[in-house]
Order: sequence, then structure tokens, then C-alpha cells
Amino acid sequence: MIKLITVIGARPQFIKAAVVSRYIRDYHSSDIKEIIVHTGQHYDANMSDIFFDQMDIPKPDYFLGINGMGHGAMTGQMIEKIETVLLQEKPDWVLVYGDTNSTLAGALAAKKLHIKLAHVEAGLRSFNMEMPEEINRILTDRISDILFCPTDQAIKNLKKEGYQNINAKIIKSGDVMQDAALYYATKSQSPNIEVPPNFILCTIHRAENTDNLNKLQSIFSALSEISKQHQIILPIHPRTKTIILKNNIKFDKSSIHIIEPVGYLEMIYLLKNCNYVMTDSGGLQKEAFFFEKKCLTLRDETEWVELVQNSFNIIVGSNKDKIIEGNNELQQLTPNFKIDLYGLGMAGKNIIKELLQY
Ligand code: UDP
Repeated sequence: MIKLITVIGARPQFIKAAVVSRYIRDYHSSDIKEIIVHTGQHYDANMSDIFFDQMDIPKPDYFLGINGMGHGAMTGQMIEKIETVLLQEKPDWVLVYGDTNSTLAGALAAKKLHIKLAHVEAGLRSFNMEMPEEINRILTDRISDILFCPTDQAIKNLKKEGYQNINAKIIKSGDVMQDAALYYATKSQSPNIEVPPNFILCTIHRAENTDNLNKLQSIFSALSEISKQHQIILPIHPRTKTIILKNNIKFDKSSIHIIEPVGYLEMIYLLKNCNYVMTDSGGLQKEAFFFEKKCLTLRDETEWVELVQNSFNIIVGSNKDKIIEGNNELQQLTPNFKIDLYGLGMAGKNIIKELLQY
């Protein structure tokens, strides 16, 4: 029996871990014992608890309660507390997801204790070293024993960085987020709001947008313009909400409907029913594709380049004119959504198979 510690802490990690955790419970409960460590990076009811409830993720075995501080203090305290758990539990594997401070802390704590490390969502690159996520993912990849890559591009990125000469196994697993989207598609729940016809589903939370007031104002000014055509529903990330309120960012409140963050099942409902998506989220760009919706990405680059190459997604950054121009261009695109970019829901199975065979 393998003892596996899963380290998670932020919203997208709950969604990704739900897939693998369910696969273990359904098919390999006698082969793998999973212990869940929740760092506490996201901890409020609507950023954390709701995902554990809706997605049947087992209650974390350890809750470290670390949040709301700078990168250094947060990552440092996480490493210290995760190390204590690892020394106590002595797992065979540590499994980390994505690119947050919880990912990096879990990776460093494991590797320094010579515990095998697996990284889900390995090989992604934005090539923007100002993104904290880019730093976290590069460092985590470099010390992982198995790199579970969601896409061909992720594998290419690792090869370009010389990973064929590093003693690590590179596996194309597919993307666990597609597993989640397929599994929960029929379980979607309407959020408790009035949903306008043909609305745009929008989220904004990347530090590069929220921490630069000019960019944030420019985005909201573009949204106000675009919302004259299609009203916008915007479940707001707590960080973005704080900054908007503090700085009195202006936008058209009659056609941009800001709501509290919703659960995953409500998000699926909004994805199914929207006209298209505008976001700076990583995960939501792909979810738009899973539900056959086009996406305008409010960043200067994306890790999910296959979406852009196949005309599902246009990168527009944060400049008002560029966003409006891109929005017009998006209306003209008629891509064929019936292609396999992310593994068609087999990622959870592939990940567990590899861990068992290693
Ligand atoms: N999400 C959600 N409720 C919301 C906003 C987002 O369930 O109110 C989901 C979204 O559908 C996706 C994930 O959270 O599955 C993406 O997380 P986020 O955008 O915070 O992180 P990123 O993907 O950019 O790392």
C-alpha cells in the first residue's frame, strides 16, 4: 500500500485534487492511502469549504491555517508545518498541484526529506517571470520525480529546458480539470441570481491586473463598454473585491453584475449558459473550451497556447482599446470545439496508474 500526501490550499487545487482523490477512493482504496493537507491559503466558506462539500473531497487530515501574509512568510511557514506533518506521517509520495505557494512549499518540504514528489500540471510556462505562479511552477517541476503534463506543449516546454537529461519521469496525463468538467457537467446548479440572456461570464484576480490600478481601471472601463451589448456576470475574487472597494474603481453597475464567488456546480451552470467568457484565470480559459464557449483572455500571455492556436481564445491584455477590439474579433471566430486538447477526462486514471507502477 502506497502512502500519499496531497498538499492543497487554493481554490483551483481543490477542484483538481477532487478528481484524483475520487479516483483513489473508487478504484484503489486498498492500494493507496491518501492523506490530505490543506495549507489554509484559501480558507473562507466560499473559496474552500463549498468545494469540499460539493465535490465530495474528504475533510483534510491536517489544516495548517496559513494565509493572508506576504509570499515569503506564507511559503516559509507552510514549508515548516508541512515538514512536521511529513516527518510524522512518513509518506511514500507527496502530490502537489498547479503553481501556488502551497505547491512550492509542499514540493520543497518533500524533496528535502527525500520523499518522492509528483507534480500535477507540470511543464506549463507563461514565460513571464514576474508572475509568482511562473516561479512556483518552474521550481516545483525541477525537483519533481514525476511530471504529469496536461498538454503536448507542456512536454515540449520541459524538453526545451533539458528535462530529458534530468532523472525525472515525464508523463502526458491529460488535464484533471477536464475530468472534473465531464464528471460534474450533469450536476450543475443554478446560482441564486437572475441570469440575463446571452451574458458574458467574467473573472479577474491575477496579481498583474489587481495590483496595478491603471490596468484594473482600464479593464473595468472596457467591461462597461462591452456590457452595453452583453451583460456581464462577475463572481468576484476576495482580493479583487477589496481592491475595487478601497480604490473606488468605476464601472457600470447596471450591466456588470458582481456577485460573491460561487461554488463549482454554480460555475458549471454559468459556463453552460453564458455566451462567452472573459477572464485572467488559468483554469477558466480551459473550462470555457470544455463547455464550447469562446474566451477573451485579459492577460498578455497564456500557458494554454493550444486554445489560442486553435482560435478558441484571444489574448487581449488589459488595455481598454485592445480588449474592445479583441471582443469584436472574438465574435467572428467559429472554431470547431470537437478536438481533443486535454485528454478527454482520463487524467485522474493516468496519474494513479503511473504512481502505482513507479
Ligand atoms: N471558480 C469557481 N467559482 C468562482 C470562480 C472560479 O468555482 O466564483 C472555479 C473555476 O471554475 C475554475 C477554478 O475556480 O475551476 C479556477 O480558479 P482560479 O481562477 O481562482 O485560479 P486559476 O485557474 O487562475 O489558477
